[in-house]
Amino acid sequence: MKSITSATIDCSALRHNVHVLRKMAPHSRVMAVVKANAYGHGLIPVTRALAGVDAFAVARLEEGVSLRNAGIILPVVLLEGVLDAEQLEAAEKFNFELVVHTHEQVELLSAVSTGFQFRIWLKLDSGMNRLGFKSLDFGRAIKALQHNPNVRQPVALFTHMASADLPDRAATLAQLAVFAEASRTLSGERCIENSAAILGYPEGLTEWIRPGLLLYGVSPLTGSTGADFGLKAVMTLRSTLIAVKDVLPGETVGYGGAWTAKRNTRLAIAAIGYGDGYPRALASGTPVLVNGERAVLAGRVSMDMIGIDVTDVTSRAKLGDPVILWGTDLPVEEIAVWADTIPYELLCGISQRVAVDVSEP
Ligand SMILES: *Cc1c(COP(=O)(O)O)cnc(C)c1O
Repeated sequence: MKSITSATIDCSALRHNVHVLRKMAPHSRVMAVVKANAYGHGLIPVTRALAGVDAFAVARLEEGVSLRNAGIILPVVLLEGVLDAEQLEAAEKFNFELVVHTHEQVELLSAVSTGFQFRIWLKLDSGMNRLGFKSLDFGRAIKALQHNPNVRQPVALFTHMASADLPDRAATLAQLAVFAEASRTLSGERCIENSAAILGYPEGLTEWIRPGLLLYGVSPLTGSTGADFGLKAVMTLRSTLIAVKDVLPGETVGYGGAWTAKRNTRLAIAAIGYGDGYPRALASGTPVLVNGERAVLAGRVSMDMIGIDVTDVTSRAKLGDPVILWGTDLPVEEIAVWADTIPYELLCGISQRVAVDVSEP
């Protein structure tokens, strides 16, 4: 039985996007970021399709455990590291690599006696002021880890760019300079660049890149789409028309009567709403595809349904016809602008109720 509301995941597009990334950064290995259920695309199918990358990165321990339980044997990096001895023990058991960003983590690593050597990504706070050591403390942390028998040498080096998606380059160039200075005398492999930095700052490419959004075929830069960089959208969010009716001029549609027909209107109802992750913030006028043709949202998004003005759709819309909310031929970047958010949030927001159809393993 076919689901009337689904997210289809195109695995060949995923592999195509890795190929594009490898061309953008020919001398870098790829740490594929698959946190938050692979940006809403499904952690396990995505990581299986991405078997050709060099490592995976997740935010939290539980996400890494899911990967190991699914039989994934590639390196897995925990971007937030571990919080306590219990998590460190689990990290050893599952052979995770750890970002280290606090003195407490440095101390935890010296308090254990395991015979295991952790691979560590020591994180510099080069200006984002989220996780990481400031330059002055970075040197001390490195020294402590260099003398720790539980740590594989040399320690790898890590930082994160806060503003690489913005037109103003000053903040990112300053961050790159802070990292270059703090790591000048160190020999470990480096990992700096997220998707936006990969696109805008080839001068900051190092042994490793750390893309998330680009893997999924989506651009982090406002005003552009993944296709502008040769990428293919991996997720297409689909639904189906479950009612079609005529609405007279002056009649309103949906909760609050927020949309009023200005003409004789052909109105279609599709089975998708904010309960699926299609945001209520989307206003009347947001584009949707009905039978592959552009139509527009009419009225408020409900939990399970939306109204669509299909008056101008030439292939007379009828029950059972396909609707695309974003993906193939309708960039999620464009919908994000309508929702006053970023594509990341739309992709991650896909809810449990949406069936995930994977094109091929
Ligand atoms: C999420 C995340 C990334 C990936 O960011 P994109 O913009 O999706 O490429 C990279 N590094 C860190 C530390 C992250 O948290």
